[in-house]
Amino acid sequence: MTSETQDNQALTNYDIAIAGGGIVGVTLAAILKNSGLKVIIIEAKPLEVAAARTQAYAFSLLSSRIYEGIGVWKDIVPHIGKFKNIRLSDSDFSQIVKFETTDLNTNYLGYVAQHNVVLTALQKYIVDCPNIHWLCPGEVTDVEYQDDLAQVTVKIQDKKHFLKAKLVIGADGARSHIRSLAKITTRGWKYWQSCVAFTIKHTAAQNETAFERFWSTGPMGVLPLPGNRCQIVWTNPHERAKKLQALEEQDFIKELDYYIQGSLGDLKLVGDRVVFPVQLMQCDHYVQSRLALIGDAAHCCHPVGGQGLNLGIRDAASLAQILITAHNQGQDIGSLSVLKEYEAWRKRENLAILGFTDFLDRFFSNNWLPIVVVRRLGLWLMGNLQPLKIFALKLMTGLKGKTPVLAQNN
Ligand SMILES: Cc1cc2nc3c(=O)[nH]c(=O)nc-3n(C[C@H](O)[C@H](O)[C@H](O)COP(=O)(O)OP(=O)(O)OC[C@H]3O[C@@H](n4cnc5c(N)ncnc54)[C@H](O)[C@@H]3O)c2cc1C
Repeated sequence: MTSETQDNQALTNYDIAIAGGGIVGVTLAAILKNSGLKVIIIEAKPLEVAAARTQAYAFSLLSSRIYEGIGVWKDIVPHIGKFKNIRLSDSDFSQIVKFETTDLNTNYLGYVAQHNVVLTALQKYIVDCPNIHWLCPGEVTDVEYQDDLAQVTVKIQDKKHFLKAKLVIGADGARSHIRSLAKITTRGWKYWQSCVAFTIKHTAAQNETAFERFWSTGPMGVLPLPGNRCQIVWTNPHERAKKLQALEEQDFIKELDYYIQGSLGDLKLVGDRVVFPVQLMQCDHYVQSRLALIGDAAHCCHPVGGQGLNLGIRDAASLAQILITAHNQGQDIGSLSVLKEYEAWRKRENLAILGFTDFLDRFFSNNWLPIVVVRRLGLWLMGNLQPLKIFALKLMTGLKGKTPVLAQNN
């Protein structure tokens, strides 16, 4: 990893310029480490600030296999939560759908990893790699697309710098500036809900079960972390989410304890409660000549089921596979014909997950009696019909759809 701020000579030609050094952008760079392609990552925040977030994510089996394929999983796995069971339930309805490792014949059903653990491991993995450069902190402010290359303008401390690349990757998150500059339109909606995300310490012995419980106000996900901690993502209508954030700690814990039904013993908040508005968004196009969008820049979904980051990691692995193949065959990696392969692979698969998470949120955040009856029947069927249960489990763990080659042998 080379800092370009000290080396302006090299600020000229790259094969790939990645705008956004979040987990998704850096995952793509890590997969390209030995590809022979010259890559630059441009990240608006200082490296350590970008990696400082402690938000934890549900990490799917597929994501773990992609990271095993890269060779970085061994540095992540000692520091993260692992779960062997998933419990799905509908408020106080007694039928609980129980997913176990025996359903898939795997050691775990998923993992819970904090942002700082994953991003720091990825950053270390590409440190000193001669073909991967960093421009950080540097903000992409403009991109001019030409037939054979793109010219990227980067603002570093009020000064403009220019570089050229055969391909620009927009990995710059949900409010992607790269997407806006390219005038790529999006579809979707904002939900009537926000998520309150926080970590708690608890005294219960359990630490290998992930819970998703559906309330009429919205779903609540409880994800186990090491050291008797859990990451909780609690969806509520906007106003209620803000009120929960503002409650005194002891009142908040009392309210929380009611919703998790005392299952985790004594509770203590670790850190802040962060409130995120929730949206569903999908771009009309993931690619155009010399540009590809990945991660939240291309799509966002409801956090129910913990899918968002996992979709982005899968985008990165799929795109890297296509680019490496095209490069090895002497094709132009920024050409529309190459990039369309990525769009054809990922857009439909992502749409299926976006639809699934939207369905879960709408169907369960509803108190209309006929819907309540149908969904409770649905939960009963899922708990008792093994093929249906396996289908849902494979969807949640990333084992449905086309698997990137990198993840196939792990
Ligand atoms: C409450 C909540 C809970 C969630 N839980 C889960 C979960 O359990 N599991 C899961 O898989 N997903 C989860 N998600 C979704 C997940 O957080 C996102 O999908 C993921 O963080 C997106 O990663 P990204 O790298 O695409 O974007 P980001 O993490 O947003 O990274 C984008 C990066 O680009 C940089 N940047 C922006 N603009 C520029 C620019 N112009 N120039 C240079 N750099 C720029 C930013 O500084 C940032 O570092 C959750 C989301 C929410 C809101």
